[in-house]
Amino acid sequence: MRTLPAGFRAYEWAPSTEELALRAGLDPVELVRFDGNVPSLPLPSSRPGAIAGALADVNTYPHGGYPHIHEAIAAYAGVEPENVVLGAGGDDLIMLCARAFAGPGDVVAVPPAPTYPLFRVAAELPGARVGAESPVLTFCCRPGNPLGDLPPLPEARPLVVDEAYYEYAGETAVPFLEEGVIVIRTFSKAFGLAGARIGYLLADRDTAAELRTRQAPAPVSTLSVALALAALRTPPDVTPVLEERERLAGELRELGLEPLPSRANFLFVPTSEPDVIAERLLARGCVVRATGGGIRITVRDREDNDLLLAALAGTEEPQSRRVRHVRATAETSLRVRLGLDGAGRVRVATGAGLYDHLLEQLAFHGGLDLLVDGSGDWETGDHHTAEDTAIAFGEALDRALGDRRGIARYGSAVVPMDDALARAAVDLGGRRGAEITLAEDPGLARHTLESLAQAARMTLHVDATGRDPHHVAEAAHKAVGRALREAVRRDGAELPSTKGLL
Ligand code: PMP
Repeated sequence: MRTLPAGFRAYEWAPSTEELALRAGLDPVELVRFDGNVPSLPLPSSRPGAIAGALADVNTYPHGGYPHIHEAIAAYAGVEPENVVLGAGGDDLIMLCARAFAGPGDVVAVPPAPTYPLFRVAAELPGARVGAESPVLTFCCRPGNPLGDLPPLPEARPLVVDEAYYEYAGETAVPFLEEGVIVIRTFSKAFGLAGARIGYLLADRDTAAELRTRQAPAPVSTLSVALALAALRTPPDVTPVLEERERLAGELRELGLEPLPSRANFLFVPTSEPDVIAERLLARGCVVRATGGGIRITVRDREDNDLLLAALAGTEEPQSRRVRHVRATAETSLRVRLGLDGAGRVRVATGAGLYDHLLEQLAFHGGLDLLVDGSGDWETGDHHTAEDTAIAFGEALDRALGDRRGIARYGSAVVPMDDALARAAVDLGGRRGAEITLAEDPGLARHTLESLAQAARMTLHVDATGRDPHHVAEAAHKAVGRALREAVRRDGAELPSTKGLL
């Protein structure tokens, strides 16, 4: 093997969630990663159905390459398919550019520190060194990682502009492709496909062709191409991220911190003790990146960002009956955040219309914080999604109740709604059972309540009368919520059972 340059350091990944959780003494599912610069959820387009066609042909090679995605990328980026080179993520294409242009004895220019460490790795692997004297290739990062800045475009040519965070800034060097500029983009960030490892490069036709001849025969899998194609059909709206970034920046300033202005989906906060802060945040389940004289914080959604702000402020942890739960099946992928001692934060968004609404009613009247995000298999109707959501919520409830000591255990409620009247009673003693009678059912209400009782290990009795199916189901869910509110209350006693056990 050829020896690597003295002092060469390979790219280092951040530790796994399991490893970090072990260090923090937390359950891995409770860890929130603010260090990956990726969205907190995949786009709705990345459902199992998106790869069904590719899976049916997974035994074959992508003969003839991937004309469809070259066309789709070209249309998205405003270039021709001949300008597009596909790669296994931006990283693969950074390495491709470095080895295509640079070799032993050559100099490659990279942005000043702190910057994305892979530029140096990519330059040194083929034997070049990093410097500023007559570089054979110059890398530029716009927006910059980790600072989130938008530095001026260098005059140097050939120039590789890493636009991994392009969608957040909306500024591009694509107009300069004919002048020796190469643009690298990725599906890992705004498109939410980091695990699929797919990105692309844009260059003038000749450069693109030269680069393709230097690639492995098919560096991207057909499955990843199918996911990227689905994502390109509904490109992401990054507005909410940008708005939340500015809110988070404002809250950080309230804490006396000074985040730098950012054009990306993360904020850089300069500090003299990044490692100390990162370690303190880890103990509270928040993982940030300590780097280059500061901490880098990925903008997640408001609820997650509030966890980080509370951890940074060192405010008392709210009562701990709070869990994160993930349920992924062949049909659905759902993420539940549940707090039993809620502050009225309720949002259920799985796409199962009425059932999302019913669960929101249940949670609201239960005094719970409940956030359910995710997507399901809508092609076959609401059934899988509504059922899996009820199960995911039930499982989260079971976990949040822990050993169930000290809770009231029983709860009951009567709730009228126009023509409907619902009675509900719950027992959280740990035995599963459901006796659900609904005079009318919009379709799946009885079934989802049964699924909930099963998954949450509770006994649930519901009896609802009325003429309008929607009203009957809604009254029933509100009554279950009210009953639950009573049963989960902590009254300080041990679990009240004459048998002395659950
Ligand atoms: N460039 C920059 C600046 C990045 O931050 C990243 C993500 N770590 C990448 C490129 C590469 O991303 P990927 O290989 O997932 O496309």
